[in-house]
Amino acid sequence: MPRFYDVHYLPDGRIGQVVPNRPGVPLSVRKHTLMDLDAWPYPRRPVVPVAETVHERYSVEIFRGCTRGCRFCQAGMITRPVRERSITTVGSMVAGGVRATGFAEVGLLSLSSADHSEINEIAVDLADCYEGTNTGLSLPSTRVDAFNVTLANELSRNGRRSGLTFAPEGGSERIRKVINKMVTEDDLLRTVTTAYASGWRQVKLYFMCGLPTERDEDVLAIADLARRVIAAGREATGRRDIKCTVSIGAFVPKPHTPFQWASQCPAGVVDERLRALGAALRSDRAYGRSIGFRYHDGAPSIVEGLLSRGDRRVGRVILAAWRDGARFDGWSEYFSYERWVASAALALAGDPVDLDWYTTREREYDEILPWDHLDSGLDRDWLWQDWQDAVAAGGAAEVEDCRWTPCYECGVCPAMGTEIQTGPTGERIDGKRLLPVLTDGGR
Ligand code: SF4
Repeated sequence: MPRFYDVHYLPDGRIGQVVPNRPGVPLSVRKHTLMDLDAWPYPRRPVVPVAETVHERYSVEIFRGCTRGCRFCQAGMITRPVRERSITTVGSMVAGGVRATGFAEVGLLSLSSADHSEINEIAVDLADCYEGTNTGLSLPSTRVDAFNVTLANELSRNGRRSGLTFAPEGGSERIRKVINKMVTEDDLLRTVTTAYASGWRQVKLYFMCGLPTERDEDVLAIADLARRVIAAGREATGRRDIKCTVSIGAFVPKPHTPFQWASQCPAGVVDERLRALGAALRSDRAYGRSIGFRYHDGAPSIVEGLLSRGDRRVGRVILAAWRDGARFDGWSEYFSYERWVASAALALAGDPVDLDWYTTREREYDEILPWDHLDSGLDRDWLWQDWQDAVAAGGAAEVEDCRWTPCYECGVCPAMGTEIQTGPTGERIDGKRLLPVLTDGGR
């Protein structure tokens, strides 16, 4: 396998330098940004598995990028800026895809689909087109503050209500500010009330545990939030069969995000907080039975953290784990934390680094990170300042979404020659909608 960059390590294990080792190899690898999504309306004819799959649906990506600025989110950071597909291209992709595949569900995908500037028009037009057929619409995990009554109505127009998932990510207002997830408890309660009042009986809420600066009470606040969600649902509907599922995973710091310098929370601390949260939910007589609780242990996240922020020395750890029998580690019945600990100790024995060094260690500003030569356009100093703003002693400072506020100079647009591309286009021909109206019932 040819290597185009040499890595020089310092005596303490940190990277001293990354240098190209061949003539003509640039100092960094730059990402490419597709600016005209309408020119690439793919997939057109996706393969339809003969076996049952987890997501039985035709997926259309309605926009790329996200500038909400969640500090944990690698996808949001590295895919900037926002570029929307037009309502007409979305419509023709849905029509062609449903015809080609026969799927009865269409997923409108993106990093935050409800943020598309014409999401209401898309949902209404598609629901109109497929009225009376068995084709339904779904959105992936939806921002709490972007869901609305129109979406609720259109997503359930055919009587189908696919899963509704929201991701507040943090239980307390304080921790949501740290991660720049600017949704309030009122936003969440308003949103779930809309959903329950529109006929949903169950919503799923995603959270993370082990976030930077997190304290026990931030995680326990999830229990309070879940109780209020159930209470709001019961009040909105007058029913007792309202349910919500709290799904929680351990936070893993990712490259190219403001949290790339953060120390990862030790697995034992994550497990302890999750145990306390589970106990708080179970002990609640009034609401406990209405709240489902799903979580992952902290240990697999440490291995994820090793792979997430490792350098090329971690390749030896992976090889050692594989030689020792590691397979399908994402499945808990195959996962062995002890195997990974032993493999790391074996493979890194000659180096001044270990598993903790890669995971639970906080990095300093001047440390060269293993991915620094991969250029996603983000200004390193902006990322660092955002990290400092997140953990500021007086409380985190938040960043707005540059789709709707002035550019705050994260660096991507000037570095990559790109710009934010959003509608609404508001385009109509002779007052008619631009989504293709199907004449064959959508089949
Ligand atoms: S450069 Fe400015 S407009 Fe472009 S993504 Fe960054 S903050 Fe937004």
